[in-house]
Amino acid sequence: MQKSKRIALVAHDNRKKDLTEWVEWNWRSLLDHTIVCTGTTGTMVEKALLKKIDKGTKHPVSVRKLKSGPLGGDQQLGSLIAEGEIDLLVFLWDPMEPQPHDVDVKALLRIAVLYNVPTACNRSTADFLISSPLFTQEYTPILVDYSSYIERNLDRGR
Ligand code: PGA
Repeated sequence: MQKSKRIALVAHDNRKKDLTEWVEWNWRSLLDHTIVCTGTTGTMVEKALLKKIDKGTKHPVSVRKLKSGPLGGDQQLGSLIAEGEIDLLVFLWDPMEPQPHDVDVKALLRIAVLYNVPTACNRSTADFLISSPLFTQEYTPILVDYSSYIERNLDRGR
């Protein structure tokens, strides 16, 4: 991954305040990177950044908004991860409330682990990620070689 990261931000409704605060706190660091969000999170993140930028620099704000999470946004994000288009994920999921799209939540977390994408599921971890020296450096995540799985013998059992 390059110095400038492609960062995915997602928060469930009860965690959106947390994520907005985190974005407001870290807005300067985030501006140098590309941001992708699920729909509603994206609208909030964009608003939070614009609020900060009006007061400071005239930096353009670009937040790519996917569909809302329960409407397919989590799956879109998973697909971007599988395509190697996401470098870092902050996913503040709600540990206290069942979600209608629980299977999508699990799928997103699974695919993030599969592709070794640095993932923060709470603010402390997000703080550690954004303050890591690697956040602004080039970095090559080590990926597991799945070629033996891809080339597995499917003739057995016939
Ligand atoms: P939202 O989706 O940003 O559209 O609210 C978040 C989620 O539930 O994955």
